[in-house]
Amino acid sequence: MGVNSLNLMPTTSLRRATRGRKAVTDSKTSRQATKDAPYCMAYHPEPSPPSFSFPPGSIDSHAHICGPEATFPYDSARIYTPPDALLPAYEHMLRTLGVERMVLVQPSIYGEDNQVMLRAMRESSMPTRGVAVVPLDMERAELEGFHKAGIRGVRFNLVDVKDPSAGLPMAEITAFAERIKPMGWHTELLAHIDDYPEFGTMFQDFPTEIVVGHLGYFLPGCALDHPGFHGLLQLAGQGRCWVKLTGPYRIAAKDFPYEDVDRFAEALVKRVPDRLLWGSDWPHVMMKKTMPNDGHLANILARWIPDQQLRRQVLTDNPAKLYQFDA
Ligand SMILES: [Zn+2]
Repeated sequence: MGVNSLNLMPTTSLRRATRGRKAVTDSKTSRQATKDAPYCMAYHPEPSPPSFSFPPGSIDSHAHICGPEATFPYDSARIYTPPDALLPAYEHMLRTLGVERMVLVQPSIYGEDNQVMLRAMRESSMPTRGVAVVPLDMERAELEGFHKAGIRGVRFNLVDVKDPSAGLPMAEITAFAERIKPMGWHTELLAHIDDYPEFGTMFQDFPTEIVVGHLGYFLPGCALDHPGFHGLLQLAGQGRCWVKLTGPYRIAAKDFPYEDVDRFAEALVKRVPDRLLWGSDWPHVMMKKTMPNDGHLANILARWIPDQQLRRQVLTDNPAKLYQFDA
């Protein structure tokens, strides 16, 4: 089935779905936390070493740099304000874990202004790739400039927005994906896959590969036999989709160590180990539970993937391929 026949989602304003675009072009930016965008918790300042050794060339496939707030104003359409989470603290955390390469992802708080991420990518002491949020009419030359800077994908955030009911404008993102396909880029979706029971067929013919965060970002209590999860496994099994093992605290009902997430992780590890990525999700923005130590968080990966060989695949081989890191 073609994408068009499956365009079941509301096709409302692209601007809302790509979030923040209007605000940025209008320079409606602000530095201060507000009632609509309160400060969230800071990352744990003293990460401890993990219980297992990360393999050489390990890649953190999901993290954000935020700030300095005093220099780079945030998008006024944001829904939270993070305390500064800067590159030196992030690299310190990675070195403590034994991670050697990073993938930065554009956080919603900067809308389509990627300058903080691009700057961190230039200044990073480690091999770095990025996932950007861009206007869908971005010029080809600018896209190529992003590619040279290390960008390898674009992100659509359908969750942490002021109006989540805006849905997924399939026709627009499909047309855009055709444009980024020749560069080998992918399309990352931050979406609750349980909102998309047709997920498996919706993206079957999509021009680029899809990346989904937080193990599919299912709401707590979602059943393993949910058609959305089935579709996710199916797409991943067909080599059309990747799943990030990130942010278990975002889908767990329980506090650390979030054992109620294990059933999703175990199903993914069993069925599609060659389509999984690991990410720290540092600095854990909008954390609603106790802020965990990053070393303790990393230990969860050993619980999900006790096999060292398989961990190496998820930490090194899979992301090196998707993000086109040099071998
Ligand atoms: Zn994140």
